[in-house]
Amino acid sequence: MSATLIDGKALAAQVRAEVAAGVRALQKERGITPGLAAMRVGDDPASAIYVRNKIKACAEAGILSWEHVMPTSTTQAELVARLRALNADRAVHGILVQLPLPKHLDTNAALAAVATEKDADGLLPPSQGRLLAGLPGPRPCTPAGVMRLLDHAGVKLAGAHAVVLGRSNIVGKPMAVLLLERDCTVTIAHSKTRDLATVVASADVVVAAVGRAELVKGAWIKPGAAVIDVGMNRLASGKLLGDVEFAAAAERASCITPVPGGVGPMTVAMLLANTLELARGQTEN
Ligand code: NAP
Repeated sequence: MSATLIDGKALAAQVRAEVAAGVRALQKERGITPGLAAMRVGDDPASAIYVRNKIKACAEAGILSWEHVMPTSTTQAELVARLRALNADRAVHGILVQLPLPKHLDTNAALAAVATEKDADGLLPPSQGRLLAGLPGPRPCTPAGVMRLLDHAGVKLAGAHAVVLGRSNIVGKPMAVLLLERDCTVTIAHSKTRDLATVVASADVVVAAVGRAELVKGAWIKPGAAVIDVGMNRLASGKLLGDVEFAAAAERASCITPVPGGVGPMTVAMLLANTLELARGQTEN
């Protein structure tokens, strides 16, 4: 392997330590402890693990956190009522709704019930609009974490051709905007893109967020490119694979993130950073 490995676990630990210091400062200066409420509906086991990890990370950073679990049978009105109660709770500075919600619930309508100033995930339309307009606000955690990883690895972004694979609201679209903000020339590829291999081969920076194990072949990677693998694909064997054919890509890339241990830990760290920022914002005046 000739690429440098970008250690997301180590960088996430650094970000979390920075957040913990920020929490202590906010407590000392204004007597405020940031608080995050996580809403989980139903019994999806992966969601339960994700929320547990987020709650644990909050505790380690000194952020108060509450997990609200509602049964699968929850109605839209009941969920909205609980979210509105969290909006009104002054101890809660950030709210996250763990997705996916059970199928009978309207995800967009549920998210719309969360107060904009408590959008810990940065995924609500007002936050996404602020990102697009270049205004401050919470940024979606996974793309924000990718930007920290690229900066940490010293990747030169201005003028670079960045190819983002995937166009979801959670990863691909905000990722493209953040790269554009940093003066990359950005291409967004998706399932209808023709000749993906040629598109990827022209990239100085590849961010893969597709959800297909090893879709991006190592041979497609331009020598010297930076490769960020957002994909988390659990095989029947239990093994976790990224969207990039890691070993072959690492022979050509200048730097690359592993799966696991790359983007995943950064997503949680950026959630904590967002929660601290929201608490700072809500306690001003
Ligand atoms: P998603 O909503 O399913 O979006 C996947 C995107 O990939 C879509 O835009 C889709 O195109 C595109 N795509 C699918 N097949 C393709 C193909 N053969 N060629 C090119 N593009 C293709 O997924 P997501 O929520 O963005 O997540 C993507 C991956 O990242 C998943 O593995 C997920 O588990 C992982 N993830 C990781 C983290 C983390 O913290 N590490 C956080 C979030 C997500 P169309 O739009 O045309 O359908």
